[in-house]
Amino acid sequence: MSEQVTGAELLIEALKKNDLKNVYGVVGIPVTDLARMMQRSGMRYFGFRREDSAVNAAAASGFLTGKPGLALTVSAPGFLNGLVALGEATKNCFPVIMISGSSERHIIDLNRGDYEGLDQYNIAKPFCKAAYRVDRPEDMGLAVARAIRSAVSGRPGGVYLDLPADTIGALLDENIDPESTLIKEDDPAPQQRPSVEAVDKAVEVLKNAKKPLIILGKGASIAHAENEVRDFIETTKIPYLPMSMAKGLLPDDHESCVAAARSLSFSDADAIMLVGARLNWMLSHGEKFNSDAKLIQIDVDANEIDSNKKIAAPLVGDMKSVFNELTPAVKKAGIKASQDWLDALKAKKDENFAKMQKRLTTPRSPMGYYGALAPIKELIKKNPDTYLVSEGANTLDIGRNVIDIFKPRHRLDTGTWGVMGVGLGYAIGTAIETGKKVVCVEGDSAFGFDGMEIETICRLHLPITIVVFNNGGIYNGAEKDPAGSDPAPITLDAKGRYDKLAEAFGGLAYNVTTPEELDKALNEAFDAGKPAIINAVIDPALGKESGHIGNLNPKLGIK
Ligand code: ADP
Ligand code: MG
Repeated sequence: MSEQVTGAELLIEALKKNDLKNVYGVVGIPVTDLARMMQRSGMRYFGFRREDSAVNAAAASGFLTGKPGLALTVSAPGFLNGLVALGEATKNCFPVIMISGSSERHIIDLNRGDYEGLDQYNIAKPFCKAAYRVDRPEDMGLAVARAIRSAVSGRPGGVYLDLPADTIGALLDENIDPESTLIKEDDPAPQQRPSVEAVDKAVEVLKNAKKPLIILGKGASIAHAENEVRDFIETTKIPYLPMSMAKGLLPDDHESCVAAARSLSFSDADAIMLVGARLNWMLSHGEKFNSDAKLIQIDVDANEIDSNKKIAAPLVGDMKSVFNELTPAVKKAGIKASQDWLDALKAKKDENFAKMQKRLTTPRSPMGYYGALAPIKELIKKNPDTYLVSEGANTLDIGRNVIDIFKPRHRLDTGTWGVMGVGLGYAIGTAIETGKKVVCVEGDSAFGFDGMEIETICRLHLPITIVVFNNGGIYNGAEKDPAGSDPAPITLDAKGRYDKLAEAFGGLAYNVTTPEELDKALNEAFDAGKPAIINAVIDPALGKESGHIGNLNPKLGIK
């Protein structure tokens, strides 16, 4: 560092000291030079078109690496755009730090009116795990240390770091040694071991169970606990159901995976072990479980226990530590799932596999969801290193059941809030962090939220193949417009050529109407490893209202 250093330099040195080198952002006042300096100092800066996509890319980075992803935004509107994604990341338990430039406090606090002036620090608080503001350059190292620890310890999540313009440019007192202000975080997410009593209790529940079931959630993916999970499942033979972002922790074709017998496993299991999965809306708050089932829950957050149903055996601790205690204990107790239970589930699985096979291979014109998903399923099977990003209503819901994932953290989707518009940001963050190819499967409506990031993808030459399932609507494109009115609320342009957007920025573009054409285009784009959009024309008559969660819509009796 030079003799007298600025807040900006101290921030950069503090981030680098903690091995945080990739930043995703959108620049403008007051952070443009900061981003330039980041690049010049050996960090990598990736510029986006909207802040939510940048924060989503950083969130994907956090999910994949376990280190906090970094995002950078301008003040007020840029901050607010990014805040949506910071909220999503926090809900998803993805570690991310959103850094936003802001106005000087003496302007904001007296409400004197400023260019893009907003009390960002206070506004951010409800949407993240922690918010910090840095008012003096000598605190930059402390701020980064606190942000890192908050993002990754306990239940991971989003952190907001507020940088007033005057702190960014402020000079450190020349009597202070810059290096002395920096902190290298040591063990920011320390182990949390479960108590012996808690382990005994869980073993007792499993011992008494005739039909045990594991629900594997993305907490296990976030914890990078695939080896521990595999050891436990292969020891006990307890069948498991993966939640969408836990797919691939064990390969989806694993013999203990009962994703294809979901209803039966819910209704019949007499002991259900939640492994990094909240009992939230995605699991119908546990209402579809056998009401006599005893519940075990592994979670790093004690506050999650009993949030929806009584948990008979809470195992509070970090996933790896919990399994390090639990697996030897179940081995000692000789716990094994009974063959009868496994046979019953296997029979149901086989029945449902046959039905699925039929759906995937029955020809249909115009093209339907299953026909279009079949080539994507094949491609991922042949290339299991490929990352899959998915969003949309029906595209997501049907795709989750159709496309198998074989490696941990290789599927990213709409997550805990079920939000649309995360896809391209996730895809970009994933391609950059892993250097691997990404297939991004999007509904036409979902693509609309962040479609302009195709320019980012092309500018950065990323190997991302986007398949837009174009059925011309939010849910579907078959609704008749009421006489004399504007287009129906769910209607989008079914004839739209989303592929042309890729062409505009030098990417590959395909328009396909059959599974065969889609297969050819997909493989060609994938092999080329270049940015591509495939506009896959789907029958507008297909697509259920809100996909698999139509029951959440209030019934207003519209005719
Ligand atoms: P899903 O959507 O896959 O069901 P959720 O996001 O609902 O998963 O649940 C993830 C849970 O995992 C959260 O309650 C979170 O506290 C927990 N979790 C995150 N990291 C860890 C970890 N390292 N160890 C244990 N639990 C964790
Ligand atoms: Mg659609």
